[in-house]
Amino acid sequence: MTLGTIMSFKKTIGLMAIISCFCVTVGAQNNNASNHVVNGKYFHEFAALKQKKSQDQKYLVASAYEMPLLFSMIKKLSEKLKIDQPCYVYFITKPEDDGYNAVEAAGDLNENFQTLTFLFIGEGAFETLSDEQFEAIMAHELSHIKNDHYTKGLKLELGLIALNALTWAGFILNQANLAYPILISLGSLLGVLAYSRSCEREADHDAARVIDNPNDLGDALRALHNRNNTPLEQILLKYIDFTHPSVHEREAYLAKMAQAKQISS
Ligand SMILES: [Zn+2]
Repeated sequence: MTLGTIMSFKKTIGLMAIISCFCVTVGAQNNNASNHVVNGKYFHEFAALKQKKSQDQKYLVASAYEMPLLFSMIKKLSEKLKIDQPCYVYFITKPEDDGYNAVEAAGDLNENFQTLTFLFIGEGAFETLSDEQFEAIMAHELSHIKNDHYTKGLKLELGLIALNALTWAGFILNQANLAYPILISLGSLLGVLAYSRSCEREADHDAARVIDNPNDLGDALRALHNRNNTPLEQILLKYIDFTHPSVHEREAYLAKMAQAKQISS
């Protein structure tokens, strides 16, 4: 399966979700270079790989042979989380691409309807995070895989698309009350957003259990938030980030988990 297929599949599902739920996302990418402060061991390993391969490629794929430090870290975290390692790791190398400043776990279904898992690592995220913060973000993404959030989200979205289609068809064919399809659409939107936030919290909590210091995850989320959003977006997202809990909330519960870990050790 090619990456193009994977990306177009993801985009199709994303588009379907957006169309069915009138989803509005906030938080445009802002490649602000002023936050480039860290060049840790994973970044150096990646920089060496990038030099060897063509710089014109939109995505780079690396093997454990080419990036032993990164892959042994992924292996260690996967073992702690009791999951199989992701099938592929892709690096996004173009600043203008979505995901250049992000790390994301994604999935696809193979012909037997089994989930294949992928990690997308944006070069910008590599540049922004310390090694500990980068490991914490990887633990969060792997926790999405552990909890099968991709497949569960896909099923939820497909179910809601079917429900919305039926309700709207009922309205169009029977001239039934318009309030029903509107309420169902609105409810679907709120349901998908609430589900997304609950997945993020679950992944944060699972990640915090397998990393040494849960504050590293809070710091990483803050660093990515500051890098990816303009000052105005940062203020707005404090109140209206529908797809994720606010960074403020996440920092707070991660700090509590860090404290609890310190006391118990
Ligand atoms: Zn997440």
